[in-house]
Amino acid sequence: MNYIETSSGKWEVVVGLEVHAQIISRSKLFSTASTEFGISPNENVSFVDAALPGTLPVINSFCIDQAIKTGLGLNGTVNLVSFFDRKNYFYADLPQGYQISQFYHPIISGGYIDIENENDELKRINLDHIHIEQDAGKSIHDQSPTKSFIDLNRSGIALMEIVTKPDMRSADDAAAFLRKLRSILRYLKTCDGNMDEGSMRADVNVSVHRPETEYGVRAEVKNVNSIKFLTTAVNFEVARQIEILESGGKVDQETRLFDSSSGKTRSMRSKEDAQDYRYFPDPDLPPLILEQSRIDAIRETIPELPDAKASRLQREYGLPRYEARIISSEREMADFYEKALSGFNPDKDLAKLLANWIIGELFALLNKHGKNIANSCISPENMGELVTLIKTDVISGKIAKDVLELMWSSRKSPSHIVEKNGWRQITSMDTIENSVKEVLADHTDKVAEYKSGKEKLFGFFVGQAMKKTSGKAYGQMLNEVLKKILDEEETSVQR
Ligand code: ADP
Ligand code: MG
Repeated sequence: MNYIETSSGKWEVVVGLEVHAQIISRSKLFSTASTEFGISPNENVSFVDAALPGTLPVINSFCIDQAIKTGLGLNGTVNLVSFFDRKNYFYADLPQGYQISQFYHPIISGGYIDIENENDELKRINLDHIHIEQDAGKSIHDQSPTKSFIDLNRSGIALMEIVTKPDMRSADDAAAFLRKLRSILRYLKTCDGNMDEGSMRADVNVSVHRPETEYGVRAEVKNVNSIKFLTTAVNFEVARQIEILESGGKVDQETRLFDSSSGKTRSMRSKEDAQDYRYFPDPDLPPLILEQSRIDAIRETIPELPDAKASRLQREYGLPRYEARIISSEREMADFYEKALSGFNPDKDLAKLLANWIIGELFALLNKHGKNIANSCISPENMGELVTLIKTDVISGKIAKDVLELMWSSRKSPSHIVEKNGWRQITSMDTIENSVKEVLADHTDKVAEYKSGKEKLFGFFVGQAMKKTSGKAYGQMLNEVLKKILDEEETSVQR
């Protein structure tokens, strides 16, 4: 258990999330308007989205398929009958005066995600349910000193609300949950997980209590839109609530706003109860009735998901758990990885080496050029070849970094680049011995110092000999040869 300890004793933290995930779909939940992002205001607005009188919502069945797929991917139960309800409230950017949501009977019940903590222990975070709802529009307050504007492009866009049980016990748990959820949704292609475009955002419920007592009163922090902010918001709330309780006060059940520039939360309104929204079944929409065959067909389309993939990479290639988890976190990265390995029969060391080169060097290059692995200038085949060259000592890891840069700019194969530049590692004993002897002859003073005990100079000799071979000498051989020659000289001097 990770308790928080203060001078007054231990506290346990409880976190539950309500994640809004935008469904990947070309058109909105109840209209045919486009969902394209970044278009000018009010371009993607149909009569239905603007709530003109006399218009009626028509369910977009692709969005339903996406929600079913998500439910199955998150181990939930798909309900054969669910309903749409009106959640009534007034807001300038909500022209209907209500949001169509699912309150009493959501499409998905239950489900779970397994997360791993820093000690690699598995922890199951249960889901309460997933429901479908429409997004609202957006008010714009920064375009005029005297007026506000409304952009209805988002109005009616399909969202899934994924509601967890209060099963998380720290900011780290919550961050791990959101990361894993994002990864799974991206595998399923039901939500793109772009938090900075608002495709995924979380309402964060936080409370604290003394161990072995009932859960505390929670505060809900609205619309947190990055994993970093999630961590900051939870930690801020925990500290705030503990301070209130320790000074004899009571935590209010309220809705709070997160200010990302200060990292603080502040009160927005007291928490509204369900009755405040006057939920009732939407009379414009029939019950949503699903055939089992439709659900079964969608189940067939679910790809291998991150957990299963990580286990398989461990099993099939002997990849360590850590690397397997990182490589599996993105479907495109895992595909790239396996394609790179498919050309040969990799052993454990090569599988790990390749993973490390992708996670480290290749990702640094992708970031530098603002690309992602799916449109990388380096093919999986060439990446596989590069690590084979390292593994078989044809080139050193150091030279390999230069080769990788050239692979990016020229799109040529690593062996082509190595041959063209004469970068093959020198493994000829004679060449290496000669360069070592030259260096020692050039620095007789330093050799004497070395012999009188200044052993640090060994590195200096290595560096000089490397220079003589333009950095191409096989490091391990060079070290051995140097050591041998120095030792021999020593014995001959003593004699
Ligand atoms: P409401 O519908 O009133 O918002 P729910 O019971 O549906 O309340 O819970 C909403 C979210 O709050 C869920 O994610 C749940 O896990 C979380 N939650 C419930 N109780 C607590 C608590 N004591 N501390 C932290 N989170 C909580
Ligand atoms: Mg709620």
